[in-house]
Amino acid sequence: MSVPKELLDILACPLCRTEVRPTPDGDGLKCVRCGRVYPVKDDIPVMLPEEAKEEAPTDAGQFT
Ligand SMILES: [Zn+2]
Repeated sequence: MSVPKELLDILACPLCRTEVRPTPDGDGLKCVRCGRVYPVKDDIPVMLPEEAKEEAPTDAGQFT
């Protein structure tokens, strides 16, 4: 799997300083507050707002 838990514990959404959680498919980290999904590239989380995809802040996980 990709991101170690120790890393998840220190990572936060740069916009709202809220914790992020791995997406079900494991290729992103989703902010629990604003719903932005930060990509994980080569097992390295990219915590940049301009790289994030905006999703509804639920776990629906669908793209429109
Ligand atoms: Zn956020």
